[in-house]
Amino acid sequence: MTSVLVNGLRRGPGEEAYRALVGHTFTCPTCRAGAPCIAEVRLGREWKKARCS
Ligand SMILES: [Zn+2]
Repeated sequence: MTSVLVNGLRRGPGEEAYRALVGHTFTCPTCRAGAPCIAEVRLGREWKKARCS
């Protein structure tokens, strides 16, 4: 699941932001529990912003 996303992105403008988001979801207990996480929402927003800019 994760490898598919990584392969689809490769090196792009949002790569760093994407790595931060994925790294967070792997280490954050809230995200791992599938609960709403403010930090994850913020990282996801930054990723979208980085992709569009
Ligand atoms: Zn989280």
